[in-house]
Amino acid sequence: MRYSGWQVLAQGLTGNRGWHPAWRSPDPRPDYDIVLIGGGGHGLATAFYLAKEHGLTNVAVLEKGYLGGGNVGRNTTIVRANYMLPGNSEFYSHSLKLWEKLSGELNYNVMHSQRGIINLFHSDGQRDAYARRGNAMINQGDDAILLDREGVRQILPYLNFDQTRFPIYGGLWHKRGGTARHDAVAWGYARGADRRGVDLIQNCEVTGIDIEAGRVRGVQTTRGAIRVKKVGIVVAGRSSQVAAMAGLRLPIESHILQAFVTEGLKPAIDHVVTYGMGHFYISQSDKGGLVFGGDLDFYASYAARGNLPMAEHVMEAGMTLMPMIGKAKLLRSWGGIMDMSPDGSPIIDKTGIEGLYLNCGWCYGGFKAVPGSGYSFAHLIAQDRPHAPAARFRLDRFATGHGLMDEEGTGSQHNLH
Ligand SMILES: Cc1cc2nc3c(=O)[nH]c(=O)nc-3n(C[C@H](O)[C@H](O)[C@H](O)COP(=O)(O)OP(=O)(O)OC[C@H]3O[C@@H](n4cnc5c(N)ncnc54)[C@H](O)[C@@H]3O)c2cc1C
Repeated sequence: MRYSGWQVLAQGLTGNRGWHPAWRSPDPRPDYDIVLIGGGGHGLATAFYLAKEHGLTNVAVLEKGYLGGGNVGRNTTIVRANYMLPGNSEFYSHSLKLWEKLSGELNYNVMHSQRGIINLFHSDGQRDAYARRGNAMINQGDDAILLDREGVRQILPYLNFDQTRFPIYGGLWHKRGGTARHDAVAWGYARGADRRGVDLIQNCEVTGIDIEAGRVRGVQTTRGAIRVKKVGIVVAGRSSQVAAMAGLRLPIESHILQAFVTEGLKPAIDHVVTYGMGHFYISQSDKGGLVFGGDLDFYASYAARGNLPMAEHVMEAGMTLMPMIGKAKLLRSWGGIMDMSPDGSPIIDKTGIEGLYLNCGWCYGGFKAVPGSGYSFAHLIAQDRPHAPAARFRLDRFATGHGLMDEEGTGSQHNLH
């Protein structure tokens, strides 16, 4: 069924009896050409582009829980292309272009809202860094405007400009940045892949990867064994655990990132705002909730919930920047397991095992990457060669030291990126 305004009208007039589930629930078949482990944003997008761009539909996505129950449904929904380093720059630029036509391409409203992002800076040094970043964005063909303090005040008058600890010097404005509805992205890709014949199999945990003579032969799952020619590991925070099933030790640490949402309020914050010193970012959802987050919980963990000291740290940063949010009641908070790489940049690559492909290391920033990552990973799996915008996301950079992309300049410490 094609979704449209007319369809809503027609269904409304006929008792809404014609709607169908957005995807099937098939049982796993004994063999597939391609299996993707992980039904998050990246796995579902990869399945969609394998089918759409490469005509490969003998494909299954195996998800241990339910589709979209991982980080794709837990993030703060920020979508941007404001990276600086070669490698990241062209990749996120490509991803943002895919976002801009995504609702039409999926026939599913992902509520992509280009409301603009303003990254605040609070010192001369930070201004220089953002000026440089803005120039890199413009060189890449994206947009960036450097605002001084008065420029920021005109757009975000509710900020506390008088704070003495980290005074606001200005901001880098990325107008094409914004937000999207995270669940809708998972659901839209799931529906699009299912319509093209991909099997989406929920409650199916991969427990082993079968390898013979250096190549993948199949996977073991809680719903039986599956023979398969190619396997893509796309499991975000569980990457090290699943890769270990194939005998691989990844340069990934898993850390928790929390997010917070308040009760619904009248429109107050109509941009995404990031606080460059306190590490705090905020936007307002279409339902009116203030959605915000901050730093990682700094210790490694697989528990998808956060700790209270970090909750306090995030609230303090928010209150410093915009004291008025102290009046809002916090509704919910939650955590997701982040796949942190040593240089803060991702991996989309083959492994040393034939037929086994890897997609991980998205750190804080994998939601905005979903379209680009799915597109590039599908290209790699289908054609056995890297897709140009993702060609620098090589696994061996951590062994050779060549091509590291330390966007934040924090050195090789997973929890600081
Ligand atoms: C609080 C928070 C805020 C964030 N904010 C942003 C943001 O504003 N902007 C941004 O760009 N990014 C953000 N991110 C990061 C982004 O959400 C992630 O990088 C991205 O979603 C990870 O990719 P994914 O969607 O494929 O992961 P997931 O949705 O986690 O998908 C991985 C899936 O693999 C499944 N799985 C794991 N092991 C197995 C197994 N053995 N067998 C089968 N299935 C398995 C899991 O159940 C899971 O569903 C945020 C993340 C969090 C947690």
